[in-house]
Amino acid sequence: MAYGFDTLQVHAGARPDPATGARQVPIYQTTAYVFRDAEHAAALFNLQEVGYIYSRLTNPTVAALQERMATLEGGAGAVCCSSGHAAQIMALFPLMGPGCNVVVSNRLYGGSITQFSQTIKRFGWSAKFVDIDDLEAVAAAIDDDTRAVFCESIANPGGHVADLRAVADVADAAGLPLIVDNTTATPYLCRPIEHGATLVVHSMTKYLTGNGTVTGGVVVDSGNFNWSASDKFPSLSEPEPAYHGLKFHETFGPLAFTFHGIAVGLRDLGMTLNPQAAHYTLLGIETLSLRMQRTVENAQAVAEWLEKDDRIEAVTYAGLASSPYHDRVAKYCPKGASGLFTATLKSGYDGCVKLVDSLELFSHVANLGDTRSLIIHSASTTHRQLTPEQQKAAGASPNVVRLSIGIETVDDIIADLDQALARASS
Ligand SMILES: *Cc1c(COP(=O)(O)O)cnc(C)c1O
Repeated sequence: MAYGFDTLQVHAGARPDPATGARQVPIYQTTAYVFRDAEHAAALFNLQEVGYIYSRLTNPTVAALQERMATLEGGAGAVCCSSGHAAQIMALFPLMGPGCNVVVSNRLYGGSITQFSQTIKRFGWSAKFVDIDDLEAVAAAIDDDTRAVFCESIANPGGHVADLRAVADVADAAGLPLIVDNTTATPYLCRPIEHGATLVVHSMTKYLTGNGTVTGGVVVDSGNFNWSASDKFPSLSEPEPAYHGLKFHETFGPLAFTFHGIAVGLRDLGMTLNPQAAHYTLLGIETLSLRMQRTVENAQAVAEWLEKDDRIEAVTYAGLASSPYHDRVAKYCPKGASGLFTATLKSGYDGCVKLVDSLELFSHVANLGDTRSLIIHSASTTHRQLTPEQQKAAGASPNVVRLSIGIETVDDIIADLDQALARASS
């Protein structure tokens, strides 16, 4: 029998501890695992047997979280890592090589724009930024050296909802995987694999953990992509010298990407999630659907209130009837458009600064997806490394603030905004 989402968020990947019967997943606070004998050790190191060797690669607490995330996203397997940014590198690492490029949406989290436009160049990789709604531009940007297409399901901070099926079709026609950053939506609101995504990445730092305690990331693989259909993905289709010429795709089938991510990615890049962080994230995910329901309800009410307020020029919440993405919300995230959006203030840059300084319940922080309501002035913080054009494309112009609505009493959230807007506009 197939369990529902609310059951799976509590139980997937977890079973009573075989040694003690402990009901909650224990924090396996250990670096290494004793081998049964020399033969067992050799089999583990050859990937002939699956088991625990060293916690840079695998750890039982982290493995429970990997299984839970793969289940909730409807994927074949998952690799956890130390942050959302680590997950993006881990997603690209098996696909890319020097000279390769990735076609990415220009509406992304500011840190991702910096990572893709600057830092990945050090690996000899590059990114081509496109308007992800312009499918012809996406297709035209793809060349012989392209290895993936990347976008966010609901973009941070502007709330732009990507037409995942249409973008997946363009990637598919070019024989490429689509990677979707599903951080803002979470698998409760949107399941990108059902709409054609090959890989789903998350910053688990945000809604999945949900309480602002730890950083973490995950790459979930759908298991659907044929890595051997072309010669573009030799790390997965060709013999791996570090494992006696083993071919990951031929040997592990739909788990090829996951095994490669652990056996080569975590082994050699070392962006490992620690078991304490995995524990906090497992606890957070147990209540994901409940938090997201309240988050969506509150965000809808706050966005509607702000939209009517004459101190506000525009509100980007995709759940608003006035949003250009209203139809896409119905198709891709029918349970709601999450809790993240931007508001443009008539009082401009100075008004935004006064607003964040006048709020009492909201915290002015560089985070989102918390139980608490959060706000940030993106242009002076997360998006300040970007050019004015990049800021505008990312929905982070100087007169814009980003709000992440929490699960508090909605009247309190609105009252706080009301008093701070009064000061910001005076
Ligand atoms: C925060 C965030 C990231 C980066 O995640 P970290 O855990 O901070 O490394 C990536 N994508 C989106 C959409 C984010 O909001």
